[in-house]
Amino acid sequence: MSIINVLDKDTINKIAAGEVIEGPAAVVKELVENAIDADANSVTVEIKDGGTSLIRVTDNGKGIGSDDIKTAFLPHATSKIKTADDLTLVSSLGFRGEALASIAAVSEVEVLTKTADEISGIRYVINGGKEEANEPIGTPEGTTFVVRNLFYNTPARKKFLKTPATEGRYVGEVMEHMAVSHPEIAFKFILNGQVKLQTMGNGSLKDVLFYIYGKETTANIIPVNNPDADGELVNGLSVRGYIGKPSLTRGNKEYENYFINGRFIKNKVITRAIEDAYKSFLMQHRFPFTCLLISVDNSLVDVNVHPAKLEVRFSDTESIYRLIFHEVDNALRKKDLLPDMGVKQ
Ligand code: ADP
Ligand code: MG
Repeated sequence: MSIINVLDKDTINKIAAGEVIEGPAAVVKELVENAIDADANSVTVEIKDGGTSLIRVTDNGKGIGSDDIKTAFLPHATSKIKTADDLTLVSSLGFRGEALASIAAVSEVEVLTKTADEISGIRYVINGGKEEANEPIGTPEGTTFVVRNLFYNTPARKKFLKTPATEGRYVGEVMEHMAVSHPEIAFKFILNGQVKLQTMGNGSLKDVLFYIYGKETTANIIPVNNPDADGELVNGLSVRGYIGKPSLTRGNKEYENYFINGRFIKNKVITRAIEDAYKSFLMQHRFPFTCLLISVDNSLVDVNVHPAKLEVRFSDTESIYRLIFHEVDNALRKKDLLPDMGVKQ
């Protein structure tokens, strides 16, 4: 008697969904990334009960056409790459074509979308991977995703969700990361009917930091290069943003943020470069505030390492270390800072 089963499609999708979609924050991250990839300059996210009962993401981007709406929800369906060769050049945030299929496998999804070319919009409903509606509807250009009852059909997953307050906080963190890495997009985040974050989308990183961290923090940050304009890539690399004066220290690493090509990531080499540059300025067990927007030529970075793309791999870690260390160190040594710290030249 054989004991090995080939799993059915539904089960495969639910298992695969678990890899990309850990909870409400992952849903929001994927949907907001899609909005950014669709060239939206305004994105509103609304959640209830930490996102477990409702997530609504509205963008004013390109929309999804009637010929594509069904396909968009198939596993490994993407408009962003065609072959593996495209992976080396991909500049969009998404490319795996897994998010919509994964989200739809484990929740109830309703989409309202319209492209510029089509006269009518579409209302598409897919629950637990099963299509329930696909009909024309009047709706503004752009896309609204409504995700209800996350993990309703995967109780094992649902059990591992934290409290709505905690899940809501994770979503808030995702929204902060999105806002600082895209100052040119107006973001709004509404939690249980209350506006928690709102940015203007005027391109000013300092304005975004002001909205998120407040006056006190923004009064104590210094620029790294021109924070509002992508500098020329030198050897395929550039960095801009703000870092905290040494007086603006924190007790944990939570404020050491950096972004590669518009993605929030974690990377040991970059963290080490930042902390090494601050070493002579900070006491032990104190950590800096940083918000660095790093651009890396796509051929030098592999973003296809982690399903949620939280990690990347560089082909040349040495030069990224040197760049970050050098620029942070440079900014910290600007003369007008020195009196603040009582350091003699
Ligand atoms: P990926 O982003 O990796 O391509 P997704 O599953 O997230 O995969 O999305 C599948 C496709 O659906 C995208 O490639 C895109 O063509 C389309 N799409 C998803 N969300 C949006 C959106 N907000 N606006 C326009 N098109 C979208
Ligand atoms: Mg995507």
